[in-house]
Amino acid sequence: MAILETRDLKYSYPDGTVALNGINFKAEKGEMIAILGPNGAGKSTTFLHFNGILKPSHGNVLLKGEPIKYDNKSLLNVRKTVGIVFQNPDDQLFAPTVEQDVAFGPMNLGLSKEEIEKRVKDSLKAVSMEGFERKPPHHLSGGQKKRIAIAGILAMNPEIIVLDEPTSGLDPMGASQIMKLLYELNRQGITIIISTHDVDLVPIYANKVYLLNEGKIIKGGTPREIFSDSETVRSANLRLPRVAHLIELLEKEDKLGIKMGYTIGEARNNIKEFIKGE
Ligand code: ADP
Repeated sequence: MAILETRDLKYSYPDGTVALNGINFKAEKGEMIAILGPNGAGKSTTFLHFNGILKPSHGNVLLKGEPIKYDNKSLLNVRKTVGIVFQNPDDQLFAPTVEQDVAFGPMNLGLSKEEIEKRVKDSLKAVSMEGFERKPPHHLSGGQKKRIAIAGILAMNPEIIVLDEPTSGLDPMGASQIMKLLYELNRQGITIIISTHDVDLVPIYANKVYLLNEGKIIKGGTPREIFSDSETVRSANLRLPRVAHLIELLEKEDKLGIKMGYTIGEARNNIKEFIKGE
C-alpha cells in the first residue's frame, strides 16, 4: 500500500486557473521521490494537497490508503504525518529565535516541556545547527534558514517530508549539503518528496521521478527510465543531467559507443570501460 497517493487529483484556483488536471501520484514508504517540472507545471499546488492545505476540486488524496478528511481534527493528524518545507524559508520561519521556531510545532501538539526541549535539541542536531538556538532566524544564511525550516518539520516527527525546491537559492555546496541531509533522513526511514529543477542532483538521490507539465504527470519512473527518454524530458522544457548530455553527444555525434550514465560516478565508469575496450 502506498503511504501517500493522489487519484485523479484536479484543482482550479478561485480565479479559474486550472493548476492540476488529473494527477495520479504514488509514494511508497521509504522512497525518495523527485518531482520535476518547469515553472507553473503544478508542483507547488500538488504539494499543498499532500497535507491538506488545499482541498481537491476533484479526486482524492490518500494517506496510508485512507482519503484525507478536511475537518480540523483530521487535518491535525495529517499534518503530524506529512510535513511541508516551503520553497522560501521566510514563509516558514517567524519566531524571534531559532529555538522558538523549532519548538512551535511540538508546542501545538500539546507535548510536555521536556519532550519539546528534547525534540528541539534532536532536530537541531539532525540538521547540524546546534549552537544556533538563540539566533534570530533572519540573521542566518539561506542554507542555514533552510536547515532550521527542516528542523521545525522534523520536530513534529513526520513520516513524510515534502520539500518545495529545497535547493533553490543555495550555492552549489549548500545545495549538495541539503541533499545529503535529506538522503540521511531518508536512510533513517522518512519518506522524502521534493520538487526541483536541479536535474543533476536527481539521479544521485532520487529512486523515483515524476515529470510534471501543465498540471499533468507526463511520465513516472526511475531516474534511468525518465532520463533515457530525452525527448519527453525536453518536451517539458527540462534538460538531461549535464553528464548524460555529454555522453549523448559522444554517442550521437561522435559515434563513440559509450554506455549512458546519469551521474558522474556512473559516467566515469562507463567511459573507463569504453577506453579499456578500445
Ligand atoms: P510550480 O510549482 O510547478 O511552479 P504552481 O503549482 O505554483 O507551479 O502553479 C501551477 C499553476 O497555478 C500556474 O499556472 C500558476 O500560475 C497557477 N497558480 C499558482 N498559485 C495560484 C494562485 N494563488 N492563484 C491563481 N493561480 C495560481
